Amino acid sequence: MEPCLPIEAASPTRHPTRQARAVWGSRVVTIGGDAPVRIQSMTNTDTVDAIATAIQVKELAIAGSELVRITVNTPEAAAQVPYIREQLDRMGIDVPLVGDFHYNGHRLLTEYPDCAKALSKYRINPGNVGKGDKRDKQFGQMIEAAIKYDKCVRIGVNWGSLDQELLASLMDENGQRAEPWDAKQVMYEALVTSAIESAKRAEAMGMDGRQIILSCKVSGVQDLVSVYRELAKRCDYALHLGLTEAGMGTKGTVASSVALGILLQEGIGDTIRVSLTPQPGEARTQEVVIASEILQALGLRSFVPSVTACPGCGRTTSTTFQELAKQIDDHLRSNMPVWRAKYPGVEKMKVAVMGCIVNGPGESKHADIGISLPGTGEAPAAPVFIDGEKAMTLRGENIAREFHEIVENYIEKRFGAKQPEHA
Ligand code: SF4
Repeated sequence: MEPCLPIEAASPTRHPTRQARAVWGSRVVTIGGDAPVRIQSMTNTDTVDAIATAIQVKELAIAGSELVRITVNTPEAAAQVPYIREQLDRMGIDVPLVGDFHYNGHRLLTEYPDCAKALSKYRINPGNVGKGDKRDKQFGQMIEAAIKYDKCVRIGVNWGSLDQELLASLMDENGQRAEPWDAKQVMYEALVTSAIESAKRAEAMGMDGRQIILSCKVSGVQDLVSVYRELAKRCDYALHLGLTEAGMGTKGTVASSVALGILLQEGIGDTIRVSLTPQPGEARTQEVVIASEILQALGLRSFVPSVTACPGCGRTTSTTFQELAKQIDDHLRSNMPVWRAKYPGVEKMKVAVMGCIVNGPGESKHADIGISLPGTGEAPAAPVFIDGEKAMTLRGENIAREFHEIVENYIEKRFGAKQPEHA
């Protein structure tokens, strides 16, 4: 059958949200609106240990985190926040800091004004700002601090610490329904209501709605999708997205990628965090790497040149191409902190390292630069493709080193300063 229309290319369309700004010094990180989807992360150091916290914030920022959240849970921690900020400024790290408050945030933000000033954003959990009469007052104190110091807030609801009074009242209402919802649907409603009502309360106090970001975190993929679809439908606040307690390793990575991928593809989400439990010995920065990969895989942002490599099969009995793919990937990543400034646009480059003739030349032609290594039984020759054309064939023992040099030269020629723009 003849196609009558071209197949539409899939791409995410951003859900319209208001734009918030997290500011530190001259650094302004816009969130929502037409700003790119931002990456956030959180430290796991004791905030009282200011040096260790500043060092980890620095590592996360260098890895690509555009906002870093720190725990502010005690007077001692609050007292260290300005010092952490000072250390970062001294190191030239201007990433905005977000303070994570629970239970006593109203007191800490009031009694430690230097902490309130040093932070760029306050995370408020409406589920634990206080009970009964105290709840509105204590929530109000935190909003007052945000207004006074011109900070944005994230009203972050979490199903692990959901406002129990609100949940109980929604359960009661549900009991009156002719056809009651199931408990999960009531819980979804409580999450969304808690976030939106808290935001409205903050606005009623004089907070600019553009300075409010909402989140409703749950730990199940389908639950997260359900809740955020509804949240996006009911409000236009900027939304922070994350699967809470995603877990460790492969499980946490896959669950976060799937959940965030679905929502981001629907245009939902203005900032993201991958809440990965680090494996023993694993760097905290891994969560930033995964968040970057999610955004890059969806075509929303580019951070590092991508390396396309085939999985290998019975046609590649040696590990040569796996090793080369890894070396190239490591080389490109490790150089990005310098290359980002030196070679603008290099983050969009695509490199292919392929294992044999079946898909090797084809995939290499789709990349900016690609190599098709010889599979088992093939002639020991590796054609290199540059900008879709076969440029040369490498042979012998030094294929890996020569390909490295070719990639370096390509980057210098195409992205280096004073070079004519690539056609
Ligand atoms: S390109 Fe070749 S080696 Fe790689 S997966 Fe395909 S057939 Fe196997």
